Amino acid sequence: MSQADLVLESLSKDYSGPAGTISVLRNVTLSLQRGNAVAITGPSGSGKSTLLYIIGTLDQPTSGRFTLMGAEPAKLSAAEQAGFRNRHIGFIFQDHHLLPQCSVLENVLVPLVAGSGVKPADEQRARKLLERVGLGHRVDHRPAQLSGGERQRVAVCRALINEPAVLLADEPTGSLDRQTAQTVGSLLLELSREQNVLLLCVTHSSELAGQFPLRMELRDGQLVPIAAS
Ligand code: ADP
Ligand code: MG
Repeated sequence: MSQADLVLESLSKDYSGPAGTISVLRNVTLSLQRGNAVAITGPSGSGKSTLLYIIGTLDQPTSGRFTLMGAEPAKLSAAEQAGFRNRHIGFIFQDHHLLPQCSVLENVLVPLVAGSGVKPADEQRARKLLERVGLGHRVDHRPAQLSGGERQRVAVCRALINEPAVLLADEPTGSLDRQTAQTVGSLLLELSREQNVLLLCVTHSSELAGQFPLRMELRDGQLVPIAAS
């Protein structure tokens, strides 16, 4: 039995349609621990989002299995899966998906509203996280009053508020300029290390991937390690 926090065993994903079947993932196998930070690169359409969504329990593999924090999410009911996701997994997407009518602080607290409710200690943690990303003075602002990089920093705090074991990021800097992308990328890595999170980031940006200690590439549906340069 493996003790790794995330174990993918021969995960495959096919899409079938009128035009035939395409194999997006082919026997993807991987073991990672909390504290690992991995960038997965690959061109558009190579299956990066598909892989991330399967690990995030938002999609299902066609075959193979995976365990996260010792549990096999595929064996849980839909309601249990939602609870599991909320407790253990943080998501960051290319577009921040912040709620425009809510303040920065409220946006960070959103995942708690869906869970056990917001306690004073949670609000303190949210304020601390926002301070950590340099937005302590912007907690009452609305997303529209922030820059793209600032909004993405709020999204990072929201993903971390439940102290997840795993942080999944899908092109997290895809909408940012070069300099801002670098800052957000560094912040993601620093916070993941500080919070002992397993960070899995998919991106087509070799610049972002270059900031990561571990790198892999999705090629023909398979994960290939990239040697450190
Ligand atoms: P990436 O994130 O690397 O750009 P995706 O994981 O989004 O790639 O998509 C991988 C491949 O799977 C693409 O060829 C895409 O068209 C296909 N695909 C994704 N979702 C579906 C779907 N629901 N039905 C059919 N094909 C899909
Ligand atoms: Mg994608």
